[in-house]
Formats: sequence, C-alpha cells, structure tokens
Amino acid sequence: MCVIFSVPIIDICSLPRNRLQGKVAVITGGASGLGKATAHEFIQNGAQVIIADINTELGSKVAKDLGPLAHFVQCDVTDEAQVAGAVEAAVGLHGKLDIMYNNAGIVGPVLPPSIAELDLDTFDRVMRINVWGTVAGIKHAARFMIPTGSGSILCTSSMSGLLGGLGPHSYTISKYTIPGIVKFVASELCRTGVRINCISPGPIPTPLSVGQLAQFYPGATTEQVAQIVNGLGELKGAKGEEMDVAQAAVYLASDESKYITGHNLVVDGGFTCYKDIKL
Ligand code: NAD
Repeated sequence: MCVIFSVPIIDICSLPRNRLQGKVAVITGGASGLGKATAHEFIQNGAQVIIADINTELGSKVAKDLGPLAHFVQCDVTDEAQVAGAVEAAVGLHGKLDIMYNNAGIVGPVLPPSIAELDLDTFDRVMRINVWGTVAGIKHAARFMIPTGSGSILCTSSMSGLLGGLGPHSYTISKYTIPGIVKFVASELCRTGVRINCISPGPIPTPLSVGQLAQFYPGATTEQVAQIVNGLGELKGAKGEEMDVAQAAVYLASDESKYITGHNLVVDGGFTCYKDIKL
C-alpha cells in the first residue's frame, strides 16, 4: 500500500505574530542593520525591546520610530558597567529579562596585511567588541536569568566564522570564537533552563557589510555596493535580507525552540555550502 503524505506549505506571512508575547528583550547593536530589523520583528511579535547601542543619536531615533514597546539605553559593550546597565534597565522597566541578543559587532580595517604583520591593537579592539562584549552580555543576562530558570541568549557569529578568508584576520578570529563560547556556556546552562544559541548570517546589505565592501569599489554608490553584497549570496541561492536574520532570531528567542541550545544557526542561503566562494 502506498501512503501519500501531503506536506502543507507554510506561508511565512501567515505565521502567528505573537510568538514573543509579553517577553522582554535587550538587543545590543540594535540601532542599525540586523539588530534594528530584529528589534522591529520582536516588537511585531509582542515583545518589549531595549535597544542597547553605542550610537545614542541613532538608537534614540530608532526606539522612537519603533513606538512605545521600544526603549533606548546608551551602551558600549566594551564597558562592563554599561552592559550591566542595559540589562538592569530592562529589569527596572519591565520587571524581567527573557531575551538577551548580543549582536553588536564591527569588522575593523578591511585590507589587513599578512598575519605576519597583523596589528595587534586592531585585533584587540575587534576582539573587545565582538568577543569580550558578547561574553559581558552573556554574564549579565545569566545573572538575572539563572534564578528565574528561563531565558534565551542569542549571539552573532558570521559566515566568516565558518570559513577562512572571508574577512579580515581579527574579524574572522572573533567570529570563529562565538560558536565555541555558545557551546561551552550551553553545556553549563542546560540544567538551569536558560538556553544560548548563535546565528551566523551570510552576506546581507547593512551599513557594516556595505561599508566594508565599499572600500573595494571606490566611486560606487551605496545602492550599487548593496547589490554587490546581495550578489555574493544570490550566487548560491536566495538573496539575503535583514528580515531573514530577524525571523531566525524570533524563532530562537521564542519557546518554539525550547529544546534547542548550543546551536549555531547558519542563515546564508547556502553561501557557505558552495565549493568555490570568491569575494
Ligand atoms: P551594523 O553596522 O548595521 O550594526 C551594528 C551596530 O552595532 C550599530 O548600531 C553600531 O552602533 C553598534 N555597535 C558598534 N560598536 C558597538 C559597541 N562597542 N557597543 C554597542 N554597540 C556597538 O551591522 P550589522 O550588519 O547589522 O551587524 C550586526 C552583527 O551581525 C555584527 O555582529 C556583524 O558582525 C554580524 N554579521 C553581519 C553580516 C552582514 O552581512 N551584515 C554578516 C555576518 C555577520
């Protein structure tokens, strides 16, 4: 006998929009690009969001535009007191912290010399924001989440943390580190009810990626460089948009992923599966 299963096709627009109802989130680097899109998507799904960013002007504007469910807190992730302050602001305003998204990041200088000439001050700066800042966010979120026995911590790695040669030395090393931190912390926290996962985005046009590639294309407009960024991903599959990462973050932040921890979710349209990546 042959049984034919009918698989329903999921229209992403028809997914329920209350997947984070009543949850409280802090997003570092929430004033721009992927963090900003995620703040928007979290709010669309019923969350209250603290945008924690070093850029006060932009962060305040973004929070205002997002409406009453968003607040801005000035936060440089290289300053432990400010990271603690962002978490405490969430708890002070809303009485709890459910989601901590350690997303702030920089690339650093684009054309590094050979590793033999690596500028270790630059390396320090990139590691301080991308790695130290992430660890500080994990630490201060865990302080509040462990006693409550729940919470979802998200971190941002990159396609550059999966393959060599996709970014400057410092950036690549910093992004390789993130899935390791996530695995290690998940092994500790899995008995506490607190989950931790990371997302590795592929090329998606944002001020960070467009700014990085623009240096290879002097004279090109922002739109032209954004098309080039998209072209990198499109070569291997779908064209990446900020919302692709934001929706992955909603899933990992929500209780739908309650049995997932220590995972690195690659959101790259197949970019890192392709055998012959040329930038
Ligand atoms: P973006 O430049 O648009 O946003 C980064 C945000 O981080 C900005 O608002 C900036 O003000 C903030 N920030 C920088 N330094 C900070 C600090 N010290 N403290 C607090 N905030 C700080 O970049 P994006 O593309 O949205 O990048 C977000 C994350 O995604 C980064 O970790 C980046 O490495 C990662 N990523 C991006 C791509 C991509 O193609 N856009 C691909 C892979 C990974």
